[in-house]
Amino acid sequence: MIYDLHTHSSASDGSLDPTALLRHAAACGVDVLAITDHDTLEAYDQVDFSAGGPRLVSGVELSTTWRGIGVHVVGLNIDLANDTLRSGVARQRVSRAERAQEIAARLRKLGLPHSLDAVREIAAGDYVGRPHFAQYLVAEGAVRNTRDAFRKFLGAGKVGDVKQVWQPLDDIVSWIMAAGGNAVLAHPARYRLTNSRLRSLAQDFRQAGGDAIEIVCGRQTDSTTRKLAELAKDLGLAASCGSDFHSPVNAWSRPGGFSQLPATVKPVWHGW
Ligand code: AMP
Ligand code: MN
Ligand code: MN
Ligand code: MN
Repeated sequence: MIYDLHTHSSASDGSLDPTALLRHAAACGVDVLAITDHDTLEAYDQVDFSAGGPRLVSGVELSTTWRGIGVHVVGLNIDLANDTLRSGVARQRVSRAERAQEIAARLRKLGLPHSLDAVREIAAGDYVGRPHFAQYLVAEGAVRNTRDAFRKFLGAGKVGDVKQVWQPLDDIVSWIMAAGGNAVLAHPARYRLTNSRLRSLAQDFRQAGGDAIEIVCGRQTDSTTRKLAELAKDLGLAASCGSDFHSPVNAWSRPGGFSQLPATVKPVWHGW
């Protein structure tokens, strides 16, 4: 059984609409799929549940800040109708819109005056993420590609990295718990933390009510997998896995395209 519990649709910053994502995942051999868009549940209003393909598990990826760095928490097997979760997600939506204005204001100071309108046009909706700003910066000729856009303007510590807007870790985990779901610390290796800081983050996450760590996220080295599996076992946390798929354009990333969880960890789906 292939579980891919971390993917994005066009309801956030993915390129496939939710039904196309479901079909693509089916073609890639995925058996169980979670669509985990950033700070929105809209994919589940759009998806055609009769399209066949993998079993769909409800999900979301929520943005938060921990000790000044941007951290993501995936919520899985959530009750999509839960009021606490829905109002939390609505709040994140407002934060995202405010953040877009702030990023645009900062870019304006750098001489890029029309960014917000242009970015909204690129985003084709009122959901705006940093990848849409990246597309804008490429279109303006300010950078050559997305990678450079993050490296120069949008990535951690750069001018467009506005992260103070998000709700605290405790709150976003509590929304997921209120909706009866499992909270998963997303892609822990991507925060570039020292081992001791990563441990502190995982401890705070568990203290907040977190259930699992994403042991495998897309392609990664075996040593990263081993390290994260040890951390999960040490702290008594379960394990999750996913591709963090965004687009078929990135040939290196496909639904289900990652190595299996080690046999030593407890999969988050065992409780479902
Ligand atoms: P946001 O949710 O608006 O803060 O945007 C974060 C998203 O930007 C991530 O989920 C990735 O899809 C994308 N992203 C982050 N860093 C990079 C990078 N260095 N290159 C390309 N995309 C990135
Ligand atoms: Mn993304
Ligand atoms: Mn993420
Ligand atoms: Mn993601």
